[in-house]
Amino acid sequence: MKRGRSILIVGGGTAGWLTAAYLAKALRIGEQAHLSITVLESPEIGAIGVGEATFPTIRNTLQFLGIDEARFIRQTSATFKQGIRFVDWAHAPGEGRRHSFFHPFEAPFSTDGVSLAPYWLLQDEATRAPFAEAVTIQARVADAARAPKRPHESDFAGPLNYAYHFDAAKLAQVLAERAQELGVRHLEGHVGEAVLDETGAIARIVSPEHGELTADLYIDCSGFRAELIGKALNAPFKSARPVLFADRAVACRAPYDRPDAPIQSYTVATAHEAGWLWDIGLSGARGVGCVYSSDHIDDDRAEAILRAYVGGAEVETRRLTFEAGYRQKQWISNCVAVGLSAGFLEPLESTGVVLIEAAVAMIAELFPHTGPVSAPARRFNELMAARYENIIVFLKLHYALSRRPERFWRENTNPATIPERLQELLEQWRHRPPARFDFILDLETFAFFNYQYILYGMGFPTDLADGADEFPDAAGAAKLFAKIRGFADRATQDLPGHRDLIAQINRFG
Ligand code: FAD
Repeated sequence: MKRGRSILIVGGGTAGWLTAAYLAKALRIGEQAHLSITVLESPEIGAIGVGEATFPTIRNTLQFLGIDEARFIRQTSATFKQGIRFVDWAHAPGEGRRHSFFHPFEAPFSTDGVSLAPYWLLQDEATRAPFAEAVTIQARVADAARAPKRPHESDFAGPLNYAYHFDAAKLAQVLAERAQELGVRHLEGHVGEAVLDETGAIARIVSPEHGELTADLYIDCSGFRAELIGKALNAPFKSARPVLFADRAVACRAPYDRPDAPIQSYTVATAHEAGWLWDIGLSGARGVGCVYSSDHIDDDRAEAILRAYVGGAEVETRRLTFEAGYRQKQWISNCVAVGLSAGFLEPLESTGVVLIEAAVAMIAELFPHTGPVSAPARRFNELMAARYENIIVFLKLHYALSRRPERFWRENTNPATIPERLQELLEQWRHRPPARFDFILDLETFAFFNYQYILYGMGFPTDLADGADEFPDAAGAAKLFAKIRGFADRATQDLPGHRDLIAQINRFG
């Protein structure tokens, strides 16, 4: 006889509804009478409502959930994101021309697995194209304010890899609708108390509105409040603050200068004296935020940096506080944490939703239909901890290579703040570019080419001069570089303007 399983998700932000919808679909809740999923969401404690930028994995997730792309774009004021343009990260402005580089979602072109990176490194530094522009067409397409796809292309597909920028609060609504269509039950109410049994597992949740609620598996999606994994189960939090210093953000919505201003199809990340600013083009307005370290500047200074960036536009600001880090045990007994309750590093490279996707995919695959509900806990915890640690390394890379003079940046390059693994890799990358065997792909959000984009965008010196003989196909590589330039020339003409495509999608709503 099959045993039933009930799942109670606490929290209705992006994590709660994404988890609900994903598990409902993966476990086929609508067709399985012995399985149930309930979301308990407080109408008073709001969701965080930030997290406007995503990673290409979101396309697979939305497609898996059976969400229509055009409808999703209309409902969430979404636009297409093709990568991130980093401004002023390598040098402070004022030291000559402003430095910027692009981190595209597209992998570099390669033929027969031959990497272009060494051939680019062997080119004349003074005359070669920036790395991302030399090895993909996406940097030029995005700079030309072109979209990554054409209007007739099928949902979630296009010639170029992409993700979205969207209104995070509206995303949770879309996911909530879909989850309920898939059979998820919704309760509005609070966790008053989580009562533990003698083994330390959650015995029941007491809600003032609904009385005692019980389930086989409790999923904590209560955000930074961490009602179950933190308050009830006391899972220790591993701070990453000694490595990643940012702990605050101040955010606003800024208007476009004019109604037909181009919408960037990339996030602009501009470094400042003690952190960086995000600038995200949504369909009706820009989402702008200043991320900073409270050890290096105060809130008023951060607000002034934000206001100077938006150039005098009248904006309402909102302050957010966080601590970079994660819980090493995210699944304890009959409770697993997903989203901000499990951890958060910082907004750089948009890893919030990616980590939710990674967690729910694992919960779905390892789901204990029978036997102890805690069975996947150890493996889940190992894999999630490894994922967080790897992202910490990747995020730190952005800070560790800067030559900016301010205290925040100088402290970021102090070896005592750089994880040993990153120090070892940087040492090796002085003599060769990042390669796929540097990483265990199953545990990584970012691949070797993402590291190449950041390293060479920041001007990291990989010196191949002595080993140039090992790269004999310079003629073949030159042909490929020329081919990429040709493709880019064509794509910047053929692909539609980004604002035009978004307007067209919204018009047919
Ligand atoms: P929340 O949105 O906080 O939701 C918590 C839910 O729990 C709410 O529904 C609340 O009502 C409920 N709740 C809380 N307590 C109780 C209780 N006692 N009883 C009942 N219900 C309760 N991610 C990205 O992917 N890209 C980005 O660009 C990005 N930028 C970010 C910028 C900042 C400054 C921050 C702080 C985060 C950013 N993130 C980003 C992360 C992203 O915001 C989160 O990963 C995502 O929103 C998930 O949040 P959540 O659902 O875990 O928590």
